[in-house]
Amino acid sequence: MDTLRPSDDEIAAANRELDGQTPQQVLAWAVRRFHPKLMMATAFGPEGCCILHMLAEIEPGVRVINLETGYQFAETLELRERIRERYGIAVELIRPDLTVAEYEQEHGGPLYVHRPDQCCYDRKVLPLRRAVKGYAAWISAIRGDQTEHRKAAGVVQWDAKFSLTKVNPLLRWTKKDVWKFIVDHDVPYNPLHDQGYPSVGCWPCTAPVEDGGDERSGRWAGSQKKECGLHVIEHEEGSGI
Ligand code: SF4
Repeated sequence: MDTLRPSDDEIAAANRELDGQTPQQVLAWAVRRFHPKLMMATAFGPEGCCILHMLAEIEPGVRVINLETGYQFAETLELRERIRERYGIAVELIRPDLTVAEYEQEHGGPLYVHRPDQCCYDRKVLPLRRAVKGYAAWISAIRGDQTEHRKAAGVVQWDAKFSLTKVNPLLRWTKKDVWKFIVDHDVPYNPLHDQGYPSVGCWPCTAPVEDGGDERSGRWAGSQKKECGLHVIEHEEGSGI
């Protein structure tokens, strides 16, 4: 029996225990339960930076990766260096097999224009799937109030898409909670957030948002796409929620 895979009963009990606790308490539980088979993927959003700050105090040895699609903003990659200097956490860059130039040549141009789901799949989902092999759990920085999919998440849940337990310490936090933590603790963050980009992904698929606009409306703006696919949980039977 795989003792690193919690039963449905254990997940339900963990949610009863942890829902309502602080993110640090949730992270400490995840470290006790899964480290060193615990990892985190971050795009260096403000939420991810808060978690990195917390992990530096709780367990800086947790493996942290960034999906370096080749389309990230220079500011995002510079933030990785600032995080390393501040916390000593060297976030590992996970790259797809093909460089951007090779990928665009193979497809006769960039796929993000007409087939963003395929582009995200090739440049994020597949590399992540390889990177999580051998791990039991991953930490995500999603907040429940960001999208309908995220609202349906649990603090602890089984992620059948990646065969991992997913831990969402910031699920009950608001955007205000995140920025209060950043200011209170002087956490490094992406300067693009001060330039009208509340959510930062790859540069071709990220647009600035007007004051008061939905914080994720600048991601794949003008299309129905809201997620890169990493945080759309599939249940065992494969139905996305
Ligand atoms: S966010 Fe855009 S550029 Fe980045 S992997 Fe997805 S489709 Fe490609």
